[in-house]
Amino acid sequence: IKEARACSGCGVTLQTEHSEQPGYVPAKALERTPIICQRCFRIKHYNEAASVAIDQDEFLRMLGRIGKEDALVIHIVDLFDFDGSVISGLQRFVGTNPVLLVVNKIDLLPKATNWNRITNWVQRQAKEHGLRIVDVILVSAKRNLGFDRLVDQVGEWRQRRDVYVVGATNVGKSTLINRLINDYSDMEQELTTSRYPGTTLDVVHIPLDDGKHIIDTPGIVYPSRMTELAHRDDLGALLPDKPLKPAVYQLNEGQTLFFGAFARFDFVEGERQSFTCYVSNGLPIHRTKLERADELYRDHRGDMLAPPTRERVDELPAWTKHQFRIARGSETDVFISGLGWVTCNGTTGALVEVHAPKGVKVLTRHSLL
Ligand code: GDP
Repeated sequence: IKEARACSGCGVTLQTEHSEQPGYVPAKALERTPIICQRCFRIKHYNEAASVAIDQDEFLRMLGRIGKEDALVIHIVDLFDFDGSVISGLQRFVGTNPVLLVVNKIDLLPKATNWNRITNWVQRQAKEHGLRIVDVILVSAKRNLGFDRLVDQVGEWRQRRDVYVVGATNVGKSTLINRLINDYSDMEQELTTSRYPGTTLDVVHIPLDDGKHIIDTPGIVYPSRMTELAHRDDLGALLPDKPLKPAVYQLNEGQTLFFGAFARFDFVEGERQSFTCYVSNGLPIHRTKLERADELYRDHRGDMLAPPTRERVDELPAWTKHQFRIARGSETDVFISGLGWVTCNGTTGALVEVHAPKGVKVLTRHSLL
């Protein structure tokens, strides 16, 4: 048994197995001295933050400590997976510290979107998740949208305090942090990492001009998101990178839509009506009869119904069924965390069912668009 070694940069225990987890170092790099983890390596050599993930317990411990400090908290969520990436318990942990809610990936919505409406929607959802936020800022880290306002609001709210950036994995936190590094790049000082007190976590400090820092924290893993259950190689199909193209289906009752082999949506009962799907365009939608759906899945998951491919499709947990009654006259999204959502236009009401891997969060919400 090899002796556990620590990163000489941040002190985290080194491991060579899981590249997304703290302390990862490629096996080859173990021959170098001093040994530093990949994250420290990137920060040191490229001044670039990379994502690391941690589990909920450790994450909550970290939040608890932030609550004891006087700081501004930036909570970054993914607009595409809002209900899957929002940290519901955040308020209890951060105490009285102000929270700025940064909603990333707005480039995925059509250019003609009514942004005030989106902001109101976010405010309302945030409230339902128990968050008290001082402001909502819509951004796209990838397309560089909304950063002027973000930098302004950070300046306004932080009042000579440290700024903690918290979020789930894959929300675009590293992309955003790297943008912020560029925005603050006139700084002379270097980025540093250090172990977060009382935890095994390393955090990245971006120096601000008054001796305070923007502190990037590891991303929390929520196993209730399809993007966490899926194989890394299928993330490209699940995570959209172009504006979402709504796919409208006129369905009769007794029809089913498959989203690759990740999930399925059944229109069980109701008058003929339209359903609008918002999923990554890397994910083919297949329409069939409900009465054939079980058989089709049994025989064709991994080929006609893909991704995931044959080799990977059975690595996902078995499906469970969620039933929803959509009220007449309501604009409702049936939301599948990490996969997208189906908007029921609700002119006449409907009974629908979703089959998705066990553990994936499936819910209805007031429609986003
Ligand atoms: P982290 O795990 O939160 O640090 O997330 P990353 O920064 O690694 O980003 C996760 C995924 O989301 C990557 O595929 C990014 O390319 C993508 N991403 C990040 N920001 C944006 C954005 O503003 N728009 C879109 N469409 N994708 C983004």
